[in-house]
Amino acid sequence: DVRVRFCPSPTGNPHVGLIRTALFNWAFARHHGGTLVFRIEDTDAARDSEESYEQLLDAMRWLGIDWDEGPAPFDEASGGPGGTARAAGPGGGPHGPYRQSQRMEIYADIAAKLQEHGYAYPCYCTADELEERRDAARKAGRPSGYDGKCRDLTPEQIAAYEAEGRSHIVRFRMPDETITFTDLVRGELTFAPENVTDYGIVRANGAPLYTLVNPVDDALMEITHVLRGEDLLSSTPRQIALYRALAQIGVGNGTTPAFGHLPYVMGEGNKKLSKRDPQASLNLYRERGFLPQGLLNYLSLLGWSIAEDRDIFTLDEMIAAFEITDVNANPARFDLKKCEAINATHLRELPLDEFITACEPWLRAPYAPWAPEAFDRAAFEELAPLAQTRLTVLSDITANVDFLFLDEPVADDASWTKAMKPGAENLLRTARTKLAEADWKAEALKEAVLAAGEEHGLKLGKAQAPVRVAVTGRTVGLPLFESLEVLGRERTLARVDAALA
Ligand code: GLU
Repeated sequence: DVRVRFCPSPTGNPHVGLIRTALFNWAFARHHGGTLVFRIEDTDAARDSEESYEQLLDAMRWLGIDWDEGPAPFDEASGGPGGTARAAGPGGGPHGPYRQSQRMEIYADIAAKLQEHGYAYPCYCTADELEERRDAARKAGRPSGYDGKCRDLTPEQIAAYEAEGRSHIVRFRMPDETITFTDLVRGELTFAPENVTDYGIVRANGAPLYTLVNPVDDALMEITHVLRGEDLLSSTPRQIALYRALAQIGVGNGTTPAFGHLPYVMGEGNKKLSKRDPQASLNLYRERGFLPQGLLNYLSLLGWSIAEDRDIFTLDEMIAAFEITDVNANPARFDLKKCEAINATHLRELPLDEFITACEPWLRAPYAPWAPEAFDRAAFEELAPLAQTRLTVLSDITANVDFLFLDEPVADDASWTKAMKPGAENLLRTARTKLAEADWKAEALKEAVLAAGEEHGLKLGKAQAPVRVAVTGRTVGLPLFESLEVLGRERTLARVDAALA
């Protein structure tokens, strides 16, 4: 049975690289009818925060990435705008707790066992001593990893260090052998022992390190496939050695998981997209009104593709097709324009009622500047089909329909100057007269403005520009005459009058 895990540390805001990792694990689990374990790696009290933890859960819920074992998802409505999350999985599972901060005794126990059996040892070297020896090794052109000084301390040496008042960390003893494994993305990889030296697993204050807790939990939770970012590749040979040791001391079921390292995501200027990059923040996409399915569709293309020349697909189609061995090892470039275009396609494909519901958060506070009672769903429903083909992200809706819900159109001097060329006032006067007499239907309103334009020697496009600015405050927007029809005679004429005053 396939068992994969998504195991973020709750630091900072969720970012797109992290979500890509969650998505690939989820798609892999679902494709194989396996289990997705959601584990929180919160053993670093100085960096982890409860707020980040909650954001992670909320992000998963918004995206609809559900898990089979892990913390209980929130029951409240998700915090941010938009999104129709699938039901998140139930909390708990047979290998809990799933927050590492609640598993400290387990780690202490295993660290002690590893030492008892000689797989780990106390190391008394101070940071200064280590640095000095590293420098010397570098200068001599030797590998600069740990030199093994404390590997075989006698009880007398240990007693002497203790008497000196030195503290110690616990270091894992790497076997003196080449480690080879077949990465599911990159193929066979080989690590020579001189490049993978003994490493710390417990701090001097007794706190277990990522290097210990991550493989220990993968072993205890019987993880079969570790799919994670390329940045963690260098820790893999160490972890494989640790799994083997854990199997020897009876921790877990004795198997080493398969590994697949997902390619780097590159941002602007072909630099690695860092989690601090504003473009990387998931919240940004959520606030702008990306659809979860649009964003996930795009993120799936960062290292994977469903078929040549096919960019748009549903999550169910992704699940059906997803194989980790199809993931490409080359760095993937994050292309915001493409991400937006894919989202726009998903927006167009929504059934109208879902589109309307998805827009609503941006038509209400705090996204919309008008009073709550000014929002009129029925009026919006009339224009929604026209808006649906024009949006890139849901937040675009606010400016497209604000003329309907504001008492006065937005004031935008640049648009005003652009549309109110000399002569515009005369045109507007004629249009006002003809509109006032027209049957209040889009087609008749168009005829009225067309006729007004003819009197002033203007084509329809030129003639409607001042009308649009007078009524909506903007030079671009939804088809004008449908907009006027929905806005109504009284409000339209009052705005033209105000523009002429
Ligand atoms: N907590 C680790 C991280 O966020 C997980 C690494 C892994 O997937 O093994 O980087």
